[in-house]
Amino acid sequence: RRAEESALSQNEAKTSDGTRIEVVANIRNATDAREAIVKGAEGVGLLRSEFLFDNRDTAPSEEEQAQEYCAVAKALGSERTLVVRTLDVGGDKPLSYMPLPKEDNPFLGLRGIRVGLERPDILRTQLRAILQAAPYAKLHIMFPMIASIDELREAKAILAEEQASMGVKDVKVGIMVEVPSTAVMAERFAKEVDFFSIGTNDLTQYVLAMDRGHPQLAKQADALHPGVLAMIAMTCEGAKKHGKWVGVCGGLASDERAAPLLVGMGVTELSASIPSIPSVKATLSRWRLDECNQLAKDILEKATTAEVREHLAKTAR
Ligand code: PEP
Ligand code: MG
Repeated sequence: RRAEESALSQNEAKTSDGTRIEVVANIRNATDAREAIVKGAEGVGLLRSEFLFDNRDTAPSEEEQAQEYCAVAKALGSERTLVVRTLDVGGDKPLSYMPLPKEDNPFLGLRGIRVGLERPDILRTQLRAILQAAPYAKLHIMFPMIASIDELREAKAILAEEQASMGVKDVKVGIMVEVPSTAVMAERFAKEVDFFSIGTNDLTQYVLAMDRGHPQLAKQADALHPGVLAMIAMTCEGAKKHGKWVGVCGGLASDERAAPLLVGMGVTELSASIPSIPSVKATLSRWRLDECNQLAKDILEKATTAEVREHLAKTAR
């Protein structure tokens, strides 16, 4: 297996019948970007920009941020995709210099894009910094925790203004699908974005109403729950109607056993943790697309998480 993985490492990911699936990485900074390429990532499907904002007393300036985003983009180069997610704080990720009101339910409060729209100054600064990286990679900007079309339109309007003022064109715009309303309304969202990336960590938490870090619920809060899988399938169907692509950047994309299932549902990009990239690519190379489709069809009929897991174990290659 090791030999197989290393032989595939610098090849494009494909199913055994040659269907292209992009296997990209979840990263935090330029060091990660370089490591991801060595491990065989074809690009970056999720740059978690929080690292620039963490562990400090003041918000990072536009220049400071631009330096980092440009370093990541340069590490990838103009042929590789870079998806930068705008700041995703609140809930589980508080910041000292951006005091948010104390909330009874922070996971249901000011999080993700809601913080960006509450503090447009911070969002605008970040967007300008990200746009500076446009010349160095295939730049994609992604908004987290989108729950309504209004939020998307507001965020897109802000981005359009900053793009116009900087004269930056050709930037793709997408959203994280991690709130059930967005999965259910995928078809309507698909008209207004270039791509989706499914955040299975939060999607699982919100579909099942189970805190993603809850110690006693860890086993049940499983992205392979049939209810979560149904939401992923819906997202893919909505996207397909408008010719948009769907990626997965939550933890499920790093699970090699889930890869053929996700591809069978219509996912064409898997953004995985760096260490799991070789095994995800190797697994894909053992499945034909029609086999992935059949697997998805069979699994989407299962009634329990245990049945899903059993079927995946039985069919694993
Ligand atoms: C997710 O929710 O699945 C995701 C990728 O975002 P994060 O884990 O950073 O919340
Ligand atoms: Mg998330």
